[in-house]
Amino acid sequence: MVRENEIRENEVAIEPPAPADAGLVFVGRISTPWTSRMETPRQGRHDGPLCRIEIFEPWVPALKGVETFERLEILYWLDRSRRDLVLQSPASNGKVHGTFSLRSPVRPNPIGTSIVKLEAVEGAVLLVRGLDCLDGTPLLDLKPDRSLFKPIAPPQPGDFQTGDGET
Ligand code: SAM
Repeated sequence: MVRENEIRENEVAIEPPAPADAGLVFVGRISTPWTSRMETPRQGRHDGPLCRIEIFEPWVPALKGVETFERLEILYWLDRSRRDLVLQSPASNGKVHGTFSLRSPVRPNPIGTSIVKLEAVEGAVLLVRGLDCLDGTPLLDLKPDRSLFKPIAPPQPGDFQTGDGET
Protein backbone atom coordinates (compact mmCIF):
# COMPACT_ATOMS: atom_id res chain seq x y z
CA MET A 1 0.00 0.00 0.00
CA VAL A 2 1.07 3.62 -0.48
CA ARG A 3 0.78 5.70 1.79
CA GLU A 4 3.58 6.72 3.91
CA ASN A 5 7.08 7.61 2.79
CA GLU A 6 8.47 4.22 1.87
CA ILE A 7 10.12 3.41 -1.48
CA ARG A 8 8.45 0.54 -3.34
CA GLU A 9 9.74 -1.96 -5.85
CA ASN A 10 11.22 -0.23 -8.96
CA GLU A 11 10.54 3.27 -7.66
CA VAL A 12 13.34 5.74 -8.31
CA ALA A 13 14.35 8.58 -6.03
CA ILE A 14 16.78 11.30 -7.01
CA GLU A 15 18.88 13.63 -4.89
CA PRO A 16 16.76 16.77 -5.16
CA PRO A 17 18.30 20.23 -5.19
CA ALA A 18 18.14 21.97 -1.84
CA PRO A 19 14.64 23.45 -1.58
CA ALA A 20 14.71 27.12 -2.50
CA ASP A 21 12.04 29.46 -1.29
CA ALA A 22 9.76 30.22 -4.22
CA GLY A 23 8.17 32.97 -2.22
CA LEU A 24 4.96 31.13 -1.43
CA VAL A 25 2.88 32.38 1.46
CA PHE A 26 0.43 30.11 3.26
CA VAL A 27 -2.82 32.06 3.27
CA GLY A 28 -4.79 29.72 5.49
CA ARG A 29 -5.20 26.27 6.93
CA ILE A 30 -7.48 23.40 5.99
CA SER A 31 -9.23 21.30 8.62
CA THR A 32 -10.44 17.87 7.53
CA PRO A 33 -11.50 14.67 9.31
CA TRP A 34 -8.33 12.85 8.19
CA THR A 35 -5.17 12.53 10.26
CA SER A 36 -3.65 9.59 8.39
CA ARG A 37 -2.80 9.18 4.72
CA MET A 38 -4.14 5.64 5.00
CA GLU A 39 -7.66 7.06 5.41
CA THR A 40 -7.61 10.21 3.31
CA PRO A 41 -9.47 9.93 -0.01
CA ARG A 42 -7.25 9.84 -3.08
CA GLN A 43 -9.55 12.43 -4.68
CA GLY A 44 -12.22 14.42 -2.88
CA ARG A 45 -15.89 14.07 -3.71
CA HIS A 46 -18.68 16.62 -3.63
CA ASP A 47 -20.77 14.38 -1.40
CA GLY A 48 -17.83 13.87 0.95
CA PRO A 49 -17.49 15.25 4.48
CA LEU A 50 -17.65 18.93 5.28
CA CYS A 51 -14.18 20.48 5.55
CA ARG A 52 -13.17 23.87 6.89
CA ILE A 53 -10.85 26.32 5.22
CA GLU A 54 -9.66 29.09 7.52
CA ILE A 55 -8.21 32.17 5.86
CA PHE A 56 -5.52 34.05 7.79
CA GLU A 57 -5.23 37.78 8.17
CA PRO A 58 -4.37 39.93 6.28
CA TRP A 59 -6.01 37.92 3.48
CA VAL A 60 -9.57 37.78 4.82
CA PRO A 61 -10.83 40.78 2.74
CA ALA A 62 -9.79 38.79 -0.36
CA LEU A 63 -12.84 36.57 0.24
CA LYS A 64 -15.19 39.31 -0.98
CA GLY A 65 -17.37 37.79 -3.71
CA VAL A 66 -16.41 34.12 -3.30
CA GLU A 67 -19.85 33.34 -1.94
CA THR A 68 -21.29 33.90 -5.43
CA PHE A 69 -19.52 30.78 -6.76
CA GLU A 70 -20.96 27.35 -6.26
CA ARG A 71 -17.57 25.72 -6.78
CA LEU A 72 -14.03 26.85 -6.00
CA GLU A 73 -10.63 25.59 -7.00
CA ILE A 74 -8.41 25.06 -3.96
CA LEU A 75 -4.62 24.84 -4.09
CA TYR A 76 -2.80 23.42 -1.11
CA TRP A 77 0.65 22.36 -0.02
CA LEU A 78 0.95 18.63 0.62
CA ASP A 79 3.38 19.32 3.40
CA ARG A 80 3.98 15.75 4.57
CA SER A 81 5.02 14.36 1.16
CA ARG A 82 8.43 13.23 0.13
CA ARG A 83 9.61 15.20 -2.91
CA ASP A 84 12.34 13.09 -4.49
CA LEU A 85 10.66 10.37 -6.59
CA VAL A 86 10.76 10.52 -10.39
CA LEU A 87 9.27 7.04 -10.90
CA GLN A 88 6.49 5.82 -8.65
CA SER A 89 4.52 2.64 -8.23
CA PRO A 90 1.05 3.63 -7.02
CA ALA A 91 -0.15 0.04 -6.99
CA SER A 92 3.00 -1.23 -5.26
CA ASN A 93 3.30 -3.93 -7.91
CA GLY A 94 6.67 -3.09 -9.43
CA LYS A 95 5.07 -1.18 -12.35
CA VAL A 96 6.27 2.40 -12.30
CA HIS A 97 4.92 5.67 -13.73
CA GLY A 98 6.60 9.05 -14.13
CA THR A 99 5.73 11.51 -11.41
CA PHE A 100 4.38 14.01 -13.96
CA SER A 101 1.96 11.41 -15.30
CA LEU A 102 0.37 10.99 -11.86
CA ARG A 103 -1.63 13.07 -9.40
CA SER A 104 0.33 11.58 -6.53
CA PRO A 105 1.13 13.88 -3.60
CA VAL A 106 4.80 12.91 -4.07
CA ARG A 107 6.21 15.54 -6.43
CA PRO A 108 9.01 18.10 -6.47
CA ASN A 109 6.64 20.89 -5.48
CA PRO A 110 3.81 19.12 -3.66
CA ILE A 111 0.89 21.25 -4.78
CA GLY A 112 -2.55 19.63 -4.58
CA THR A 113 -5.63 21.00 -6.31
CA SER A 114 -9.31 20.18 -5.86
CA ILE A 115 -12.55 21.59 -7.14
CA VAL A 116 -14.79 21.87 -4.08
CA LYS A 117 -18.46 22.56 -3.54
CA LEU A 118 -18.89 25.70 -1.46
CA GLU A 119 -21.47 25.14 1.28
CA ALA A 120 -21.08 28.29 3.37
CA VAL A 121 -18.91 31.30 4.12
CA GLU A 122 -18.75 32.22 7.81
CA GLY A 123 -16.49 35.23 8.19
CA ALA A 124 -12.95 34.02 7.57
CA VAL A 125 -14.02 30.39 7.23
CA LEU A 126 -15.26 28.50 4.20
CA LEU A 127 -17.16 25.25 4.59
CA VAL A 128 -16.64 23.01 1.59
CA ARG A 129 -16.95 19.44 0.35
CA GLY A 130 -14.55 17.78 -2.05
CA LEU A 131 -11.16 17.88 -0.36
CA ASP A 132 -8.69 15.02 0.01
CA CYS A 133 -6.01 16.43 2.30
CA LEU A 134 -4.80 15.77 5.81
CA ASP A 135 -6.01 17.86 8.69
CA GLY A 136 -3.82 20.95 9.04
CA THR A 137 -2.74 21.11 5.39
CA PRO A 138 -1.55 24.63 4.49
CA LEU A 139 -3.64 26.60 1.98
CA LEU A 140 -1.85 28.21 -0.96
CA ASP A 141 -4.69 29.84 -2.86
CA LEU A 142 -8.30 29.61 -3.85
CA LYS A 143 -10.15 30.87 -6.90
CA PRO A 144 -13.46 30.35 -8.68
CA ASP A 145 -13.86 27.16 -10.67
CA ARG A 146 -12.77 28.23 -14.17
CA SER A 147 -15.94 26.88 -15.75
CA LEU A 148 -18.00 29.32 -13.65
CA PHE A 149 -15.75 32.34 -14.02
CA LYS A 150 -16.15 35.00 -16.72
CA PRO A 151 -13.24 37.48 -16.92
CA ILE A 152 -14.25 40.86 -15.54
CA ALA A 153 -11.35 42.74 -17.16
CA PRO A 154 -11.94 43.94 -20.74
CA PRO A 155 -10.96 41.50 -23.52
CA GLN A 156 -7.49 41.73 -25.09
CA PRO A 157 -6.14 40.48 -28.44
CA GLY A 158 -4.77 37.15 -27.19
CA ASP A 159 -8.24 36.16 -26.06
CA PHE A 160 -9.24 35.76 -29.71
CA GLN A 161 -6.01 34.29 -31.10
CA THR A 162 -6.27 30.87 -32.69
CA GLY A 163 -3.91 28.61 -34.60
CA ASP A 164 -0.11 28.80 -34.60
CA GLY A 165 1.24 31.95 -33.07
CA GLU A 166 4.75 33.34 -33.59
CA THR A 167 6.90 32.31 -30.65
N1 SAM B 1 -6.66 16.34 -5.37
C1 SAM B 1 -5.25 16.66 -5.32
C2 SAM B 1 -4.68 16.66 -6.72
O1 SAM B 1 -5.13 15.88 -7.56
O2 SAM B 1 -3.77 17.47 -6.98
C3 SAM B 1 -4.47 15.74 -4.40
C4 SAM B 1 -4.56 14.29 -4.78
S1 SAM B 1 -3.46 13.31 -3.79
C5 SAM B 1 -3.59 11.76 -4.65
C6 SAM B 1 -4.39 13.03 -2.33
C7 SAM B 1 -3.58 12.18 -1.37
O3 SAM B 1 -2.50 12.97 -0.88
C8 SAM B 1 -4.33 11.74 -0.14
O4 SAM B 1 -5.02 10.54 -0.36
C9 SAM B 1 -3.20 11.56 0.87
O5 SAM B 1 -2.63 10.28 0.72
C10 SAM B 1 -2.15 12.57 0.42
N2 SAM B 1 -2.11 13.77 1.25
C11 SAM B 1 -3.16 14.54 1.60
N3 SAM B 1 -2.77 15.59 2.34
C12 SAM B 1 -1.44 15.49 2.46
C13 SAM B 1 -0.45 16.28 3.09
N4 SAM B 1 -0.75 17.39 3.75
N5 SAM B 1 0.84 15.88 3.00
C14 SAM B 1 1.15 14.74 2.32
N6 SAM B 1 0.27 13.96 1.70
C15 SAM B 1 -1.02 14.32 1.76
